[in-house]
Amino acid sequence: MDCIFCKIVSGEIPSKKAYEDENVLAFYDLEPQAPVHILVIPKEHITSAAEIDESNSSVISKIFEAIAKIAKELDLKDGFRVVTNCGDAAGQTVKHLHYHLLGGRDFTWPPG
Ligand code: AMP
Ligand code: ZN
Repeated sequence: MDCIFCKIVSGEIPSKKAYEDENVLAFYDLEPQAPVHILVIPKEHITSAAEIDESNSSVISKIFEAIAKIAKELDLKDGFRVVTNCGDAAGQTVKHLHYHLLGGRDFTWPPG
């Protein structure tokens, strides 16, 4: 499958890893939008949040366990933001489910 995040999982495309376990990979975003900007993904290809169902949702809890671990490790105690863009209107450019973990600065709400 021609998916850049699957290629990052396989090692075909290099990444700067922040966390890895059997089901989850986290790596630094190439174009950081905050002092800390990490992408947390399931190793299994899931296209977006719209494709989560009973057959694959267990990895979502693993992703959020990883997010909490990374946030502790990087000392993001002032707060952080977790975002997933789902579909073109939301600005999803890579069609492999990913959660942006953003920290190290203040964020506005609502987002643009
Ligand atoms: P989204 O626009 O929500 O689909 O986010 C995709 C993100 O992937 C963007 O923030 C890109 O900067 C990031 N990105 C694309 N290719 C790579 C790569 N090879 N390594 C790390 N981050 C990437
Ligand atoms: Zn993929």
